Amino acid sequence: MNLTPETMTIAEMLAGLRRADFTSRELTQACLARIERFEPRLHTLITYTPELALRQADEADRRYRESRQGDPSAALALPPLLGLPVMIKDVLCLADVRCTCGSKILENFVPPYTATAVQRLLDAGVVVVGKSNTDEYAMGSSTENSAYGPTHNPWDLERVPGGSSGGSAAAVAARLVPAATGSDTGGSIRQPAAYCGITGLKPTYGRVSRYGLVAYGSSLDSVGAFAASAAEVTLLFNQMAGYDPRDSTSCNLRAPNIQLSRSTDLKGLRVGVPDEYFIAGMQPEVETAVRAAIAQLEALGAVAQPVSLPHTEYALPVYYLIAPAEASANLARYDGVRFGLREPSQSLWDVFNKSRGAGLGAEVKRRIMLGTYALSAGYYDAYYGQAQKVRTLIRQDFLKAFQDVDVIACPVAPSTAFRLGEHTDDPLAMYLEDVFTLPANLAGVPGLSFPVGFDGRGLPIGMQLMGPHFKEEALLKTAHAYQLTTGWHKRAPELF
Ligand code: GLN
Repeated sequence: MNLTPETMTIAEMLAGLRRADFTSRELTQACLARIERFEPRLHTLITYTPELALRQADEADRRYRESRQGDPSAALALPPLLGLPVMIKDVLCLADVRCTCGSKILENFVPPYTATAVQRLLDAGVVVVGKSNTDEYAMGSSTENSAYGPTHNPWDLERVPGGSSGGSAAAVAARLVPAATGSDTGGSIRQPAAYCGITGLKPTYGRVSRYGLVAYGSSLDSVGAFAASAAEVTLLFNQMAGYDPRDSTSCNLRAPNIQLSRSTDLKGLRVGVPDEYFIAGMQPEVETAVRAAIAQLEALGAVAQPVSLPHTEYALPVYYLIAPAEASANLARYDGVRFGLREPSQSLWDVFNKSRGAGLGAEVKRRIMLGTYALSAGYYDAYYGQAQKVRTLIRQDFLKAFQDVDVIACPVAPSTAFRLGEHTDDPLAMYLEDVFTLPANLAGVPGLSFPVGFDGRGLPIGMQLMGPHFKEEALLKTAHAYQLTTGWHKRAPELF
């Protein structure tokens, strides 16, 4: 049979596997063929793992076969994502496969263990085709900070896919794989999802284990997923989330088991629209598309009302103190002794200096310097201490807003995908891409990004829904109702 994964949803793939219309090996091979065809121009992967994928696919096929021979209950016990090809962002450890974090310093680092979020997906039966490209240590908004070269946006190869999870987002948008994982410290799932025209969920802080996620900003980092639609993201999120004693900030709550219905009725849903997220200077087409999507939610029965998040303007300076401060502490371990690249030298200090000098990229060094400065004696209170206080105010904005509304709807980023190189010499312009995504990380609330239209150049536009802590279900249900009644999420780029 002629298998075309690029035209299928995850549900259709899983149903086909269960019915034995095709095998996981065939499905995986079809994805590998697309990767081999399109990857040279997209560059979504840092490490390609076809042998591993085919081994896992054969194992999945063996389990499908056994379940068909056994009694009917064996079929029910099959893992929910058995045989599904995915990519894993290269900041999440997968045992025995190198994990570079987009950095030269970890070029040869092979972790001996697997991140919990990845292990849960493996337990659910996924097949891993590779580790996807990322800005170095997830620091960036374009994937241009990867030491392995940038990823290209499949909608326009001259443009960035967003970042830092740009490899995962571009791969899903190009339908190389139906799903991929990401991490989001300040927007790294939501912004690339928006730039690539797909759906991406940043869960509540503490909802998905950070164990085995290489730390960037430990109080901000969360692990989430990409797919074409909210329904598909839900299938992954249900598997990835849940308590993990190996992550001390993991919340001890029952794992979610979100079941989406075919209902498109949003009656009673209160949607908050924050003025602070429609700013001067944003691309007018983004505002138009987001407002039209809010009108569509209203047409389904939701009630939109203004809501205020008054401390929004401080999110950018607060984030760019707290995230670098935490990064400067987290990255101290890459010293040329314990991990990765080592530049031999006469003294220990020289080994540290030379290894870090040679192994870390310019943006990572900038963050380490910013963070070290913000934490240093004499400046700590003025910078880091103040930032923590303002962070509390930002969190309180959300808690207050969610007394009146169930979800907040706003743009994901002020513009659509920019050109490769456009912001590389201007860190502030790059940081400004994050204005609408940083607040959710500072507050710890979940955020979902999904496509709501295109600009005049044919580039996708994303809308963000944010919700109260642990209310991912409200976001996914709302986006699902939207997607049942619209078609943006079904559009895929025409590839060369
Ligand atoms: N662009 C932001 C940064 O560079 C967010 C990155 C992320 O979420 N990992 O820090």
